[in-house]
Amino acid sequence: MPLYEYHCNDCQGEFEVLCSFSRADEPVSCIQCNSSHTRRAISLFSAVSKGGGSMESSRSKGGSSCASCAATSCSTC
Ligand SMILES: [Zn+2]
Repeated sequence: MPLYEYHCNDCQGEFEVLCSFSRADEPVSCIQCNSSHTRRAISLFSAVSKGGGSMESSRSKGGSSCASCAATSCSTC
């Protein structure tokens, strides 16, 4: 389940909410002042998926000398 960080426009507070995808677009009340003037700040879930880029850079350092394929089994390897 994704963890969302919300920012409250009324008390300027920030809080995190665990919610399912089906409820992700519903307004969330501030846990401090109960205001509904909140907006989603960042999604930690999407921040995690962005980490996939590090896998790519480690693979390019992985020792394959072939520039045209990711494996070592093509005709130019
Ligand atoms: Zn608030």
